Amino acid sequence: MDLADIEKIVEKQRIYFNTNVTKDVSFRLNQLKKLKTALIENEQLLHDAVKKDFKKSAFESFANEVFLVYEEIDIAVKNVKWWAKRKRVKTNLINFPAKSYRLPEPLGTTLVIGAWNYPYVTSLPPVISAIAAGNTVILKPSELANNASKAMYQIISEVFDQKYLAVVEGAVPETTTLLEQKFDKIFFTGSVPVGKIVYEAASKHLTPVTLELGGKNPTFITESCDLKRAVQRMIWAKYLNSGQICVAPDYVLVHHSIKDKFIEAAKKEIEASQFSFENGNYVQIITEKHTDRLSKLIDPEKVVHGGEFNISERYIAPTIMQDVSFDDPIMLDEIFGPILPVISYDNLDEVISKIKSRPKPLAIYVFTKDKQVKQKLLSEISSGTGAVNEALMQITNPNLPFGGVGSSGMSSYHGKFGFDAFTHYKSILDKPNWMETNLKYFPHTPRKLKLIKQMFRIS
Ligand code: NAD
Repeated sequence: MDLADIEKIVEKQRIYFNTNVTKDVSFRLNQLKKLKTALIENEQLLHDAVKKDFKKSAFESFANEVFLVYEEIDIAVKNVKWWAKRKRVKTNLINFPAKSYRLPEPLGTTLVIGAWNYPYVTSLPPVISAIAAGNTVILKPSELANNASKAMYQIISEVFDQKYLAVVEGAVPETTTLLEQKFDKIFFTGSVPVGKIVYEAASKHLTPVTLELGGKNPTFITESCDLKRAVQRMIWAKYLNSGQICVAPDYVLVHHSIKDKFIEAAKKEIEASQFSFENGNYVQIITEKHTDRLSKLIDPEKVVHGGEFNISERYIAPTIMQDVSFDDPIMLDEIFGPILPVISYDNLDEVISKIKSRPKPLAIYVFTKDKQVKQKLLSEISSGTGAVNEALMQITNPNLPFGGVGSSGMSSYHGKFGFDAFTHYKSILDKPNWMETNLKYFPHTPRKLKLIKQMFRIS
């Protein structure tokens, strides 16, 4: 797209928003239904696109992407009438008689920037929330999942007018131009470094942001856990999408007394999972550059499983590394790939303080049957989300807001929380005319002051 066109689309959207058409709840409902119909009609196109991008299977594409998008639309369709209603709150004595309420209003012209790892799930749910809340939207999907980006462009531009919902495809130049425009909300999913660029650009216009970023998610395998279950759930969550998931367990902290058993069980679980491109249980790393980065994190001396890679095939074998320390290169940044560093610990307090000295993670996972250990870890370590005796599945419950804290992000979404991310709640005091106390009016007299004090029982 011509960069000059970007400015025009934003301007068209601003004009359209100001007509108030998008605020009407039945309009919003129709658009949501229209979007769902278009996605259903083109579902095969969506699956084929991610297959081309990184050999993602139709099962993966449906179960962990398209299904969640449909669910998000269904929740919005079912609830938007209620969400868009004003919310009554109590009125205090000073203002009696009056009504007080919070009036949800759309923020206006909004921008959604998606990531590549789950190109549909990081792009479309925020768009759905923006529509439900009555905004206009520009979606900028990630250029790295190029076919998925094209598919979303094709589907959306066939059904929607750009003045309401537009897809702008592109990479850094297009995103930079978009970020120069004045938006009323920017919703970004991606890495911490780009999150900082987005935040800085947004600050120039005082535009509110939601930043869905990443981080290193610690996973505790404590001595009291149900090891079989823990390994089964953890391995699934680590190697799904070849580890390219923001909430994947990044590394494991395993109590030294069960370390060997854990590693043996983890190896068996990897074998049983049959990860391969051929059967669709494994996906490619998104680019050769990303594969190369990951391959350099593998320390052959520490590998106890896997370790093989092929840059041109964009393949990294499901890998486990043992005897890793917090100072190893693999522990410096988010891995975002199928390499699992295992750190064994003796003293829980020591590892907790290590984690607390680092950026706040997006998720924490605790495998334990010990209630006190669970309580300790959940209360001491700050993270965006988490799960106990489970990993990753917390993000599939739309009643749990999904988002980071500190450097893993700000604000949250999914279901009603997504609606809120694109809504301003205007606080209104609504006064009838049938009664007036004259205490506040001039002239202010000692008698009025005495009455006020009596009213509030202030002697
Ligand atoms: P990324 O930050 O490289 O890219 C995200 C988006 O920003 C893309 O649309 C890209 O085109 C754009 N972009 C890239 N460089 C830019 C620049 N210099 N200026 C302006 N825009 C730019 O992230 P990614 O590689 O697509 O995704 C991986 C990262 O995203 C990981 O850190 C992962 O944890 C995170 N992530 C977070 C979530 C979440 O919900 N919290 C979900 C998925 C991925």
